Amino acid sequence: MAKRNKEALKDEEKRKLNWVNLSKLLGIFKHILPYKGKFVLGLIALVLSSATLLSFPYFSGQLLDVASGKTGGYFSSINQIAIVLAVILFIQSIFSFIRVYTFALVSENTIADLRKSVYQKMIAQPMGFFDTHRTGELLSRITADVGTLQDTFSITLAELIRQVLTLTIGIGVIFYFTPKLTSFMLLTFPVLVLLALVFGKYIRKLSGKTQDHLAEANVMVEESLQSISVVKAFTNENFEIARYAKALSNVVTISIRGARYRALFIAFIIFAVIGGMVAVGWYGALLIQQGKMTHGELFSFILYTAFIGGSIAGIGDIFTQLQRSIGASERILEILHYEDEAPANEGIKAPIKGNIDFQNVSFVYPTRPDVQVLQNINFHVKAGEKVALVGKSGSGKSTIINLLLRFYPLSSGELKVDGENNEDYNLPHYRKHIGIVPQEVILFGGTIKENIGYGRPHATDEEIHEAARQANAMEFIERFPEGFETKVGDRGVKLSGGQRQRVAIARAILKNPAILILDEATSSLDAHSELLVQEALELLMKGRTTIIIAHRLSTIKMVDSIFVIQDGRIIEKGSHHDLVLRPQGIYNNLLKLQLQ
Ligand code: ADP
Repeated sequence: MAKRNKEALKDEEKRKLNWVNLSKLLGIFKHILPYKGKFVLGLIALVLSSATLLSFPYFSGQLLDVASGKTGGYFSSINQIAIVLAVILFIQSIFSFIRVYTFALVSENTIADLRKSVYQKMIAQPMGFFDTHRTGELLSRITADVGTLQDTFSITLAELIRQVLTLTIGIGVIFYFTPKLTSFMLLTFPVLVLLALVFGKYIRKLSGKTQDHLAEANVMVEESLQSISVVKAFTNENFEIARYAKALSNVVTISIRGARYRALFIAFIIFAVIGGMVAVGWYGALLIQQGKMTHGELFSFILYTAFIGGSIAGIGDIFTQLQRSIGASERILEILHYEDEAPANEGIKAPIKGNIDFQNVSFVYPTRPDVQVLQNINFHVKAGEKVALVGKSGSGKSTIINLLLRFYPLSSGELKVDGENNEDYNLPHYRKHIGIVPQEVILFGGTIKENIGYGRPHATDEEIHEAARQANAMEFIERFPEGFETKVGDRGVKLSGGQRQRVAIARAILKNPAILILDEATSSLDAHSELLVQEALELLMKGRTTIIIAHRLSTIKMVDSIFVIQDGRIIEKGSHHDLVLRPQGIYNNLLKLQLQ
């Protein structure tokens, strides 16, 4: 954290430290409540460790006074004080341990809870949410933003309390023991601090600019390296080098301007700090000479002011970190306040047989309100029937499926399943009755068993094996030495297209849905796999309402109806036999094209 603290805030990270903004931080802070007992214990340890630490300068001063022969204090020997110091040291280490450990306990648990809530919220969002939020952006909410808050809860908060305590107790103590010298210091010191703050802010702004320019230059390197083949093919190496050199020279110009101010700043600080010390030393020496102060008191005073100076410097960093945390909590709260896709307990839970009825359904995607994707779609599928959607890519086939899956609300019209509006069903219940074998089968990086089991969590091994058998997947699974335990994906075996298809079919068999959606793979399989997949699919379709998004017309000759979609409308419907009889029909044309 220390390193990040010192960096300048970017513009988008800046937040005013006012009550409205701080209350946002409190909104996140309430996640600490389950651990409030430990948190309070940590706070107590923090107060005690800071307080014990602050007694050091006092006793050190006493040490000096006793050494220089001054008597009349609480102590008569150096050893006595040394023992007290050792005991305090020991106690303060115990408090420090308790503080660091309990704060870590609280912050780790709170942050894990927070991550879980954010993830839960994200995953419960409707599809439209994922159209408008990029994955990287969501990932950074859950990693970077939550991480910033973790720093705040584990370190910043404790530091803030510690520094404020040090500052107030420290000033209180020196004021009590050495009021004259303290007043002298307080007259000069705040002025210096103020000057340093204003100056420092300006320098940070400059260094922020340097960072931005450097980032720009870095993007150039990244882009050119990523598309190095393009750079080389166009022999633009020199062009790229020149571009990069220009960006770098910008960085240098701005950095040097910053360096000038920084040098000035450092010279000023050294001058002011040393000057201040000299002045205080001069005044302190006078007071000693006049017998108004002891050596030990001066020594304590100097140590206390060092502590105080340290906390003032620290508080600046803490404010930066708080501002950054407010930004992070805003972004996290925004996600936490979104409505879930649908309440988990509402809606009809009647068994679904699989009658589907699209009535005058029109649709636009929320992200593209000006494009009418579906217009007046009407079709009916009786339970157990098979239908196919045919049409060019972009015609709206997947959108029809998205609506059936309730990924988006209809813009107008009605979509009925078994006579009920599909939005009236309980959402998880509803989706449990729809199975899908997608075009591109996505496997998770686990074992084959886990991937098939995704169709029904808690399925037994026997059920998974039976599903694999029905999906014609045993043939390849058994050929792997580790069988069902074979890891797939990035760090395991790469399955071929046909094999993936059969894993997806096995998933769907396990799910046992009333309604089945088959999105035909566009890339063709070898004849052997094709046969195995086709066979498994036919078994899967038996007794289920099936909607096939067909790319190869040869596979849909046997379906009950075919709907030809163009620009979001159904322009032809009928069985394969009906449609081939229309010489000018679109389907007929498509068929001819494919035969060629
Ligand atoms: P098909 O499945 O027939 O290839 P789609 O239903 O995927 O067609 O697409 C129909 C139209 O909707 C296309 O113009 C496509 O660009 C648009 N579209 C698809 N998905 C989205 C989305 N998530 N957001 C906005 N527009 C989309």
